[in-house]
Amino acid sequence: MTHVATHPLLTTFQRLVSENTIFRQDEPLARRTTMRVGGTAEFYCEPANEPELSRLLEFTQNSDIPFMLLGRGSNLLIRDGGIPGLVICLSQPDFSRITIDGQTLRCGAGARLKHVAVEARRQGLAGLEFLEGIPGSVGGALRMNAGAMGGAMFAVTQSIRYMTLGGQTHNLPAAEIQSNYRHCPFFETHVALAATLNVHSDTSEAIERRMKEGSEKRWKSQPAAPSAGCIFKNPTTIPSGKLIEELGLKGKRIGGAAVSDVHGNFIVNENQATAEDVLALIEFIQQKALTERGIRLETEVQIVGVNKSLLSGS
Ligand SMILES: Cc1cc2nc3c(=O)[nH]c(=O)nc-3n(C[C@H](O)[C@H](O)[C@H](O)COP(=O)(O)OP(=O)(O)OC[C@H]3O[C@@H](n4cnc5c(N)ncnc54)[C@H](O)[C@@H]3O)c2cc1C
Repeated sequence: MTHVATHPLLTTFQRLVSENTIFRQDEPLARRTTMRVGGTAEFYCEPANEPELSRLLEFTQNSDIPFMLLGRGSNLLIRDGGIPGLVICLSQPDFSRITIDGQTLRCGAGARLKHVAVEARRQGLAGLEFLEGIPGSVGGALRMNAGAMGGAMFAVTQSIRYMTLGGQTHNLPAAEIQSNYRHCPFFETHVALAATLNVHSDTSEAIERRMKEGSEKRWKSQPAAPSAGCIFKNPTTIPSGKLIEELGLKGKRIGGAAVSDVHGNFIVNENQATAEDVLALIEFIQQKALTERGIRLETEVQIVGVNKSLLSGS
């Protein structure tokens, strides 16, 4: 068995918090994303609670150590060279609770959207059915202003609890935070901790029916193979999926990555793709959309990390 020496920085991180905060060094990230590609996190951690997250953020800020938040990795394309610095995932119970008090549903940033929708249905609370099929966390959904079936995260959010990069905690009405299509600039520089969502009463049967309709629509229109959801934002003139289909690119392959035959705006990891394969396919599609239709396709998927070639110096 080979022994990997503990990096001194990891020891420093560990001294800042209790043993309930989980740390790993050189943590493979592909398995923590739905696309299943990408390199490792130099350091990976799951903080136990808000005070410990706060201490870690304060330290990274004061020491100029890069960090990034990882939700459920369903909107991420991590480059093959991985992520330098600290990757923080708010998946521990303190960040993942869903509590319901009358007509108010509060959920931690680490809660799965599916669990939020199912819990609301169980309590006869409607308005969150659209979250059921989005395979992300509340934190990722706030950052992306995720939406489906005519609903969007910020349209149902009443208030937000967040942390600054220096580790201070605040609450804010959601109406004071700017959000737009699949983007919330505020969460580029703040950490989402929790959200209070607007719900209203309905029968569990009616809620269940709407969730089932949404889910059936998804199964028919989306590929089952590993992907990061929609790769491109929809331009104002045409949905990206339709454009890609019209360009004749459904089924186009580079390495192990392919444009889905089911939905043109999904790139699937068909055969042990690398991030480089996926990035090359993205560029190919963007180039073709620009030269043949004059449309600039902007990625919806968040592309993070460093290229492998940068690490090897080639
Ligand atoms: C099959 C499939 C279907 C999908 N369908 C939809 C859909 O219908 N609608 C839709 O909008 N999206 C869809 N997506 C995309 C994705 O599920 C959403 O964008 C989701 O909200 C991302 O959440 P996540 O937890 O996976 O975030 P991640 O992918 O882990 O991260 C996304 C971004 O959020 C940031 N982030 C994560 N947590 C926090 C936090 N606590 N505070 C601040 N920033 C944070 C990350 O740093 C990153 O920049 C789909 C994806 C797949 C694979």
